[in-house]
Amino acid sequence: MIHIAPRARKVRVLATLGPASSSPEMIRRLFLAGADAFRINMSHGDHADKAALVSAIRGLERELGRVTTILFDLQGPKLRVGTFANGVVQLVTGEPFVLDRDPAPGDVTRVNLPHREIFEALEPGTRLLLDDGKLVLRVVRVSAERIETMVEVGGALSNRKGVNVPDVVVPLPALTSKDRADLAFALEQGADWIALSFVQRPEDVAEARRLIGGKAALLAKIEKPAAVERLEGILELADAVMVARGDLGVECPPEKVPPVQKHIIETARRMGRPVVVATQMLESMILAPTPTRAEVSDVATAIYDGADAVMLSAESAAGSWPEESVAMMDRIAVSVESDPGYAARLHFTETRPDPTTADALSDAASSIARTVSAAAIICFTTSGSTARRISRERASVPLLVLTPKLETARRAGLLWGAHAVHTRDVASFEEMVGKSKRMALRHNLAKAGDRIIMMAGVPFGTPGSTNVLHVVRLTGSELKGRG
Ligand code: PGA
Ligand code: MN
Repeated sequence: MIHIAPRARKVRVLATLGPASSSPEMIRRLFLAGADAFRINMSHGDHADKAALVSAIRGLERELGRVTTILFDLQGPKLRVGTFANGVVQLVTGEPFVLDRDPAPGDVTRVNLPHREIFEALEPGTRLLLDDGKLVLRVVRVSAERIETMVEVGGALSNRKGVNVPDVVVPLPALTSKDRADLAFALEQGADWIALSFVQRPEDVAEARRLIGGKAALLAKIEKPAAVERLEGILELADAVMVARGDLGVECPPEKVPPVQKHIIETARRMGRPVVVATQMLESMILAPTPTRAEVSDVATAIYDGADAVMLSAESAAGSWPEESVAMMDRIAVSVESDPGYAARLHFTETRPDPTTADALSDAASSIARTVSAAAIICFTTSGSTARRISRERASVPLLVLTPKLETARRAGLLWGAHAVHTRDVASFEEMVGKSKRMALRHNLAKAGDRIIMMAGVPFGTPGSTNVLHVVRLTGSELKGRG
């Protein structure tokens, strides 16, 4: 088993897998190019395909001796129109168009909308955005059976295109029956993270949490204006969030997305929740081996804003250059992180510690690391909550997370700066010191003469009790000890 050195950057790269990246060989290449975590998108494909992806990723984990993170992304209550007799129609601006409950194939005057619940939520004046906002309908009259609209922006509309309703909270459950089946499958497959799409209210997150029952961590995708309005309540109940700019940029005007991105990142940082920035980051790399300058700047901006992770969607899932896309993100992250201005910008967001011992020590560890120029922070954690706290401090030095729980190590893959290793727990102070030293050397995080900082909980083996912070200097003779 080879041990891969920790990445040369703190920001994590989350790569979506799909037709362009489903072979074990390509997944391996993406991992080596810099993917820290993989997203499996439940909106496409079947369970057998997904199970094959999981076994390829876990196989890689065993081969390379490094834990890897798997995020299952549930489709959520995405609205779609029904089908058309000819597959496609041309809607003309200024003409009427009806959405109704009749499953019969549609034409240029009407189409089925197979979501009974939303008929009641609509009012005259509400906008319906079709096909990622390319077409706009405005509601004129609505009953339990029919939504009469005026076409405000026309164009081609084909079978099963998506419908966004940004102006209202849609009375839809957080998880559809497909989501429930997909969730059960994902948990069975050992998902590390579950992503919840189209979250509208904190109750949606609570519901998903109940269903997950602690078997995976939960990421809430923020892609509705209603969710932005209730961000703190949602963050309170979620383990992480995603700035899901694809649907967000349809539901709000695109020029609102940058300030919303900054607001979500800042709020998540303040509340100590990891935050992923997603969608269209290197969009042109779906077709081309190099991105536009504007895309490079967009990825860099997300990193400067303080994101924990940046995500690739179609670039790695369905494009012609999946490996190059990951490598490009890696290069952008390395470049931003080597800019002295990066650290200053990161600390622009004030992350005041909660009044807990663990938070106070995490804050102190980061500051001590700076004061004594320590080489690394080593954190012993069972649940991973201490790792999350230290990661939030955005310490300038590497963070090595040591945990006896495999799922904790895997979940840490979305945390800024965390390099997690699954290893036996320590039972005494001496063991803690010895193991920290050996691990820091083995993972090339420190060398003889360096100081390292370690954090753990005493009594050892008790989760949720981080109360020790210790600083030692390495002599170089530590590698002789046992693993
Ligand atoms: P999706 O989510 O790719 O599942 O739609 C991300 C987004 O909307 O940005
Ligand atoms: Mn989306």
